[in-house]
Amino acid sequence: NHGYIETIIGPMYSGKSEELIRRLKRAKIAKQNIVVFKPQIDDRYSKENVVSHSGDSIEAIPISNSNQIYDYIDEKTQVVGIDEVQFFDDNIVDVAIDLADQGIRVITAGLDMDFKGEPFGPTPRLLAVSEFVDKIQAICSVCGQPATRSQRLINSKPARYNDPIILVGAVESYEARCRKCHVVYHEDK
Ligand code: ADP
Ligand code: ZN
Repeated sequence: NHGYIETIIGPMYSGKSEELIRRLKRAKIAKQNIVVFKPQIDDRYSKENVVSHSGDSIEAIPISNSNQIYDYIDEKTQVVGIDEVQFFDDNIVDVAIDLADQGIRVITAGLDMDFKGEPFGPTPRLLAVSEFVDKIQAICSVCGQPATRSQRLINSKPARYNDPIILVGAVESYEARCRKCHVVYHEDK
C-alpha cells in the first residue's frame, strides 16, 4: 500500500495555498490523519497557519529543516501537506519520496519559477517525481490574461535581474503577470 505525491504549482496569487487547504480540509472531513508544514521563514500572515490571500487557513507547523517533518509523523499519519515548498532545501524531495513510499499521501504547493522566471529551488525535481501535478494560473495584473509569472517590484518598478533579494530601504512587492507583461531588466540590456 503505497502513497503518492501531489504537487500544486504556479505564480504568486494563483491559488496554490487555497487549493492545498481545500484538499487538506476534504481529507479532514474524510477523518484522515493529517499534518501540515510550512517553512519557518514565511511568516507573512501567521506563524502557525497556512493562510491564503483569500483568507482561508489551516493549522500548520513551521519548520526550518525538512528532516524535522519526521518528528511530527507516526504510523497513524495518512496525509502530509507542505506549503511554500520552494523555500526548502533539496532534501525536501527525498523526504516526500520517503513518505510516499511509506504509504502517505503527500500534497505540496509552491512556486515553480522565481521572479526572474527561472526554476525555483527543489521544485523542478519535485515535479519530476510527483504522481500528480497541477499547474494553476493567476490573473495578470496588467492585461487580465492568465498569469504564470511573479513580477517583483521595487519601489513600484520592475526589479533588475541582479538586484539583491533584500534591498535596504526599498519597498518591495509582487504581482502576478503573464509571459508578455512580465519584465526582468538585465544590467547589460
Ligand atoms: P498563492 O498561494 O498561489 O499565492 P493564494 O491561495 O494565497 O495564492 O491566493 C489566491 C487568491 O488571491 C485568489 O483566490 C484571489 O482571491 C486572490 N488574488 C489576488 N490577486 C490575484 C490575481 N492577480 N490573480 C488571481 N487571484 C488573485
Ligand atoms: Zn499580461
